[in-house]
Amino acid sequence: MRIILLGAPGSGKGTQGERLVAHFGIPKISTGDALRAAVKAGTELGVKAKATMDAGKLVADELVIGIVEERLSQPDAAHGFILDGFPRNTAQAKVLDDMLDRLKQPPMSRAVHLAVEDEEIIARLLDRANKEGRVDDKEDVIRHRIEVYNAETRPLLNFYGHQHKLVKVDGVGTMDEIFARIIDAL
Ligand code: ADP
Repeated sequence: MRIILLGAPGSGKGTQGERLVAHFGIPKISTGDALRAAVKAGTELGVKAKATMDAGKLVADELVIGIVEERLSQPDAAHGFILDGFPRNTAQAKVLDDMLDRLKQPPMSRAVHLAVEDEEIIARLLDRANKEGRVDDKEDVIRHRIEVYNAETRPLLNFYGHQHKLVKVDGVGTMDEIFARIIDAL
């Protein structure tokens, strides 16, 4: 299983990704988590990415591509993995296809679209802001991240649709309901 989780910020990719990790016993690669860890640790990558992330913009492709390539080359990713937050634009999606080819790995199996309306997304992220205090969970930054998603990431629905890999899942409901829908769709 080589699964991409696609969906707006706050659509539940992180939560459902963790469940897929437990279900399939394969690792999850989250570029957002990796970047936040780098910021916290004050590494060169973190220093480069911080201001862009705080503004809700996409960090440079080469930074996230480096993260993914390094992680995909680890032995535990050889038999499958889940991508959360990558690819986020068409350029990254093309690089991913080439990277798997180069690493002699089979191509991605599925892209799961967790579909949630913008209004629900904003409500969820504002709620998360109160609980987790993420710097980019402020209303103006949230709106910008949704715009970036619609402009840059949404075209990937077509990209994976053309590859006959896209499955759409209703992302509103309880965590269990949504997880059951994903397993069904896969
Ligand atoms: P969310 O899905 O809630 O926006 P993420 O944790 O996936 O949160 O991403 C947080 C931030 O990290 C993004 O707004 C962006 O700045 C950066 N980021 C994560 N993944 C990528 C990526 N693939 N390409 C560019 N920037 C990324």
